[in-house]
Order: sequence, then C-alpha cells, then structure tokens
Amino acid sequence: MNAALLDRLSAELDSRRPRHDLVVTGAQGPTLEVDGEALVNFASNDYLGLAADPEVLDAARKAMDDQGLGVAAGRVLCGTRSVHHELESAIADLTGAEDAVLYGSCFDANLGVFAALLGPDDVIFSDALNHASLIDGIRLSPSRRQVFAHSDLNQLERYLTESEGARHRLIVTDGVFSMDGDLAPLPRLAELARRHDAVLMVDDSHATGVLAGGTAGHLGLDTGVDILTGTLGKALGGAAGGFVAGSRAITETLRLVSRPYLFTNAMAPPLAAAALTAIRIAARRPELRDRLAANTARLRGALTGLGYEVLPGEHPIIPVMLRGGTLAADTAAELRREGVLVFALSHPIVPAGEERIRVQVSASHRPEQLDRAEAAFARVRAKAGAA
Ligand SMILES: *Cc1c(COP(=O)(O)O)cnc(C)c1O
Repeated sequence: MNAALLDRLSAELDSRRPRHDLVVTGAQGPTLEVDGEALVNFASNDYLGLAADPEVLDAARKAMDDQGLGVAAGRVLCGTRSVHHELESAIADLTGAEDAVLYGSCFDANLGVFAALLGPDDVIFSDALNHASLIDGIRLSPSRRQVFAHSDLNQLERYLTESEGARHRLIVTDGVFSMDGDLAPLPRLAELARRHDAVLMVDDSHATGVLAGGTAGHLGLDTGVDILTGTLGKALGGAAGGFVAGSRAITETLRLVSRPYLFTNAMAPPLAAAALTAIRIAARRPELRDRLAANTARLRGALTGLGYEVLPGEHPIIPVMLRGGTLAADTAAELRREGVLVFALSHPIVPAGEERIRVQVSASHRPEQLDRAEAAFARVRAKAGAA
C-alpha cells in the first residue's frame, strides 16, 4: 500500500472529529434499541411507519421464498422480474407520470439522469441547497451548470434570460429541503419554466408518500413537473431503491443510455415487492398520512410552546434551532440520556450559527411517545435555564 496516501489520510483524520456510528439492534420502528436501551426514534425517514409494517415484511418474505434474494444480473440482461415492471407502473401511477424507471437508489437515479438526457449545449440551473446526489449527477454531465441561491426566483429568472441561446435548459430542485423542511416554490418554478421553455425536474425524496400528490400536488400544482426523482428508502418502506418518473421518451432514453441503470445489478425482488406493497398501503390508507400530519402538528406545537425556536412549516422534518457553539450537540446528548433519539446538525452540514436538532416525526409514533419527547425537551430546557 502506498505509504504517502496512508500518511496523508492519517494526518487529515487527526484534524477531524472521529465518527462513531450508532449500532442499532432490532428492527426499525418508533423506538430503536441502542446499546441495550430503547430510545424513542425521531431520527429516521420512516415517515409512514411502513418499514415495520407486517404486510410489507410478508411481501418481502414471500418474494424471497418464490424468487430468491437477488438476481445476479443487470436489468437489461436477465435481471428483470415481473415485480420490477409492476413497481415501475405503481410509481408512475403514484407520481402521475407516464412511466417510471427503477434504480438501486435515488442517489443512483440522480447520478444517471443528467448525462443521459443533456449535452454540452445545454444549461442546468440548480438550487444552492440541492441534495449531494443532484450535485454529483450534474457534475457527470457535460452541460453548463448555474447555481441559483436557495429558492431565489429572481436570480433564476436572470440566469434564464441570459441563457436564451442554449439548446435545452433544465431547472432542478429538491421538493422538500432536508435541513429546513421547507418546500420548493414549485408553482412559481413551473411558471418560470413554462415562460422560458425550460424543463423542470424535482427530487421529491422527502415528499414521496409523505405529502399527498408530492410537493407539487401539496402546493396545488397538477402539471408542470417534467421529471421527478424519488426514493423508496424513506416513506415507502425504508429499504432501498430509487426512481425517475416522467414522459415515456425520457424513461425509454434512460433505459437505453443511463449508466447507473445499465451497469449495475437489478433491485433484489424482495425489496421491490416490499416497496410495491408499501405504495399500495400508502394509497389504501390515507389515514397514515393524516396521522403523520397530526403527529407533526402536535409536536411542532408542543416544542414551540416550550419556547424552542422551531422553523415554521408543515413537513414532518422539524428543525429546532439551537444556535451557536455546541448547544445543539449538547442538547441532543441530553435528550438521548432522556431516552429520545435525535441528531444535531452543525457546520459544515448547516452554516455556522444555524446549528439545530432535526426531529423527524412518523405516523407510527404513539401519543405516549410524543408525550415522552415533549417531556424530555421540557426537562432539558429547564436544566439549561437553571445552569
Ligand atoms: C434521501 C435522499 C436521496 C437519496 O436517496 P437514496 O434512495 O437513499 O439514495 C436523494 N435525494 C434527496 C433529496 C434525499 O433526501
């Protein structure tokens, strides 16, 4: 092994805080067992609680019994099973698109979309807070990239006006931004895209299954999003998988040329069967989304009532601002001692001075678990006030 490389990495590691991942025993759910202790879990993306749904798990087990674990081949060779087509069709229905293409993850979907559809004469306009996978996907394409300040439509419009000569222009944004839980202004973005003859692409990972009709539908926009990407690893069962949904010309092009679609293993049938079942449950049981919204409103209200600075919004991502120094990290550690699992976000994930705890609510949280979180936040605040 090259000593210079290892020396450099070791030196850089010395200057970084070591990272110890939590090791969880037992299954994902509204509580997580960590070091033998059950913590109420406000840190997962399992918004509908479907990761632990018996029907979802049975579907995976049955697919495993019938078709085995994996297919040991890519989709275009002998990796395609009927469940892949059923799942793609269910995703198309869910998103209101003509068709959908499966990927191993939404990260892969975002890596695969830009280079497949766009070329050097095209321009991509990307929100400054877009997800890392979009940023990397854009880097893999030969198109010009312009980053507009977060949800700044005036700057975006200026860029659009300046680039009238380009062949195609594509605007890309997260639907829900995962640090603030805020929604992209999709109706106005769609209007801008229409006026400037640009394509609108949305990564709706945090909204798929969470907001009825996704972020666009939630904001009253029925048409106007041309390309939608999303994950099966959050609300839709929490296992793994991603997709691109859109017009058939787009999905067929991706199936022909998109590299993270072509040059990788097909999704394992048990995962596809689980996601398919999760989509069907989400459609059949709208009360899950209603409970999620009610749980979110209740915890948002409780934390605000305790005097915490909670960024406004409706999404089950609740950012609790604890600005400056190590306050957010210390508070998260205190909450953990109180039996509540949340994570602090600090620089460089969020700007210095914007430190926060991110609380993520699920439909599976029972009233007593929300009470327990509220009581823990109250005790931690009282202790900080007394100190
Ligand atoms: C979680 C997330 C992803 C990654 O999804 P995976 O399927 O886990 O790869 C991509 N984009 C956004 C906006 C996300 O929130």
